[in-house]
Amino acid sequence: MGSGQVTSSVSSELKGKHVTVAGLGVSGVPAAKVLHGLGAIVTAVNDGADERARAQAAELEALGITVRLGDGDTLPEGTELIVTAPGWKPDKPLFAAAERAGVPVWGDVELAWRLRGPDAAPWLAVTGTNGKTTTVQMLASILKAAGLRTAAVGNIGVSLLDAVLGEEQYDVLAVELSSYQLHWAPSLRAHSAAVLNLAPDHLDWHGSMEAYAADKGRIYEGNRVACVYNAADKATEDLVREADVEEGCRAVGFTLGTPAPSQLGVVEGILVDRAFVENRQKNAQELAEVADVNPPAPHNIANALAAAALARAYGVPAKAVRDGLRAFTPDAHRIAHVADVDGVAYVDDSKATNTHAAEASLAAYESIVWIAGGLAKGATFDELVTKSAPRLRAAVLIGADRALIREALARHAPEVPVVDLDRTDTGAMRAAVQEARRLAQAGDTVLLAPACASMDMFANYNKRGDAFADAVRELGSVDG
Ligand code: ADP
Repeated sequence: MGSGQVTSSVSSELKGKHVTVAGLGVSGVPAAKVLHGLGAIVTAVNDGADERARAQAAELEALGITVRLGDGDTLPEGTELIVTAPGWKPDKPLFAAAERAGVPVWGDVELAWRLRGPDAAPWLAVTGTNGKTTTVQMLASILKAAGLRTAAVGNIGVSLLDAVLGEEQYDVLAVELSSYQLHWAPSLRAHSAAVLNLAPDHLDWHGSMEAYAADKGRIYEGNRVACVYNAADKATEDLVREADVEEGCRAVGFTLGTPAPSQLGVVEGILVDRAFVENRQKNAQELAEVADVNPPAPHNIANALAAAALARAYGVPAKAVRDGLRAFTPDAHRIAHVADVDGVAYVDDSKATNTHAAEASLAAYESIVWIAGGLAKGATFDELVTKSAPRLRAAVLIGADRALIREALARHAPEVPVVDLDRTDTGAMRAAVQEARRLAQAGDTVLLAPACASMDMFANYNKRGDAFADAVRELGSVDG
């Protein structure tokens, strides 16, 4: 496309249309500007009217856009289309009013999808409860290693609108999509897509597990080449079965075991492809070694296989998969090895903010002193504790909802020593690390995998991970 020009036919249809942009913020402000630039008559509405919203409103008003702060529930007169922020809940009165009036609702992803030009780069899309960011980054790294012009975009912080409308030319995009974005993207049709896993999350938003799964499943609708699913997570395979795809589109599984035909998997420490090869009944293509995956934890090997499957669906050669995985470094606070002290490894997985993520993280180590706790967001810990108990040397609990984890440990793993740090101040992390050091033995891993959100004690999971890393460094005699 280039030159910032929009060449889709939708762009001309928007001219003169009354469009309501619901929600200022990360996606709303750029959407309002783009729509205004296309000649739409834009009204932006927002629930809050705090300082940030007022500044954003001033920015839009200066362009001639009407802004209504403090009322996100009334449908502006004459609205012909709503473009909503992905986080706005479907049960908001604004959407009920839109439905009564027959007004369509698009999210930020739908808008970007509709505005892409006729020769736009195809999308390789990834969703799932956990592992999205990592997988999309691995995928982008593999595509780059194949010499393709690409970027990791979407829910990852790089706007799809920018990618679709910007100057930069792409061959293919690696797109991370949240369940909210998928809910509001009815006409999205990816080249190929993966659902990494499905565990209960954001159920207050979606209303039920069925609705959450259905929104995730939309990523497969209209796929052309491959629907990639997790062979260990039947729910993802069910979503493929229910999807309406283009003729010839294949279901491709990934597994940590030996792959069946039409799967990618692992054989004796080697990542192999039995899907995108000639005569897949007999043949398999070696892609990379497990040791090429950073870090080589089981859930991360699964992420690598999913990324490889999407890249292979796009026609990328095996060597680029290996080179791309080798070149990849994970974002901070995702199973980050901080240091070894007295033969004990200290690992920061502060990004494990739900039980499903923490379970994957705990499964990656044999003998663990587990630092956990924070805001539970309605989660229960029985399954996590039952599955992880054999690996726990001890647990150190912090944060507002630590009693929930303590009770689950008492029920399912009474033999595991527990230190309950009755504090939520920011110094609590230092105390937790010191307790963990006392409990750990050489060869153990002290793992921060909180299974909870951080906001009771920290601004975000980054700050929580930083506090952990600082406390580890303070232990002294750091040898790693
Ligand atoms: P997302 O973008 O979906 O939040 P990330 O790649 O940022 O995912 O990883 C978040 C956390 O989820 C990681 O720190 C790790 O604890 C966990 N995780 C990553 N990949 C997986 C996976 N495939 N299955 C389960 N948990 C995972």
